[in-house]
Amino acid sequence: MIQVANLKKSFGSLDVLKNVSFEVDKSEVIAVIGPSGSGKSTMLRSLVNLEQINGGSIRIQDQYLVKDGGYASQQQIKAITSGMGMVFQHFNLFPHLTVQGNLELAPRTVQKLTAGEVRRRSQELLGKVGLADKSDAYPARLSGGQKQRVAIARALMLNPAILLFDEPTSALDPELVGEVLRVMKQLAEEQMTMIVVTHEMGFAREVADRVLFMDNGEVVEAGTPEQIFDNPQQERTRTFLNRVV
Ligand code: ADP
Ligand code: MG
Repeated sequence: MIQVANLKKSFGSLDVLKNVSFEVDKSEVIAVIGPSGSGKSTMLRSLVNLEQINGGSIRIQDQYLVKDGGYASQQQIKAITSGMGMVFQHFNLFPHLTVQGNLELAPRTVQKLTAGEVRRRSQELLGKVGLADKSDAYPARLSGGQKQRVAIARALMLNPAILLFDEPTSALDPELVGEVLRVMKQLAEEQMTMIVVTHEMGFAREVADRVLFMDNGEVVEAGTPEQIFDNPQQERTRTFLNRVV
């Protein structure tokens, strides 16, 4: 589904991603862990063209977003990234729109669905994330956990083949983390292809098929949760895990 090869990204003189390479298969759940500033968000944002990379290749569902540093056309980029949904740490809901409005905005503008079809889909997805009764509420009236579940439902509206999560529970009060992780776990069980940047090591261990450990702009180590958590090969991985677990 995703092939990333020798991805390089710098901000000015700061090399944030240095030859990052990895692949994601269909229905795989990849957890990305690593210290703050290691380049996790930049990597994820590059996949949906929220950051432009300086070198390397990104291939999504057999189409090159970037090949050897050269980007596809705007039209191709749009087509490729429309197959991906992203969920952010701070939800990024539109405050002036209701929950339903947040879900329906993109599908109404980009897709040729009727209003009735869009409404059916938004109701179905709100039910799926346990918020069927909140469709007319504004985001300000929701808890953080509810907001993030709305954001997940919104990301699902366009039927993405891949979902990316950037620390989806890091802004939540501890007692609200579980309700969001449960929705994500359900998506994983339904074979959604997912990359999840997370500090929730329990979730990574239980739900991820593979774990990538990033440090200082590099993928230092990748493996199954058992390999990474129980038998890390790299000193940097061991040091990080000793600090967080
Ligand atoms: P992580 O998500 O692992 O915490 P980031 O990808 O957010 O790491 O950031 C990696 C590095 O890139 C950090 O040193 C950060 O300060 C820097 N960085 C991120 N975005 C920008 C930007 N827009 N301009 C300059 N530096 C940035
Ligand atoms: Mg980040």
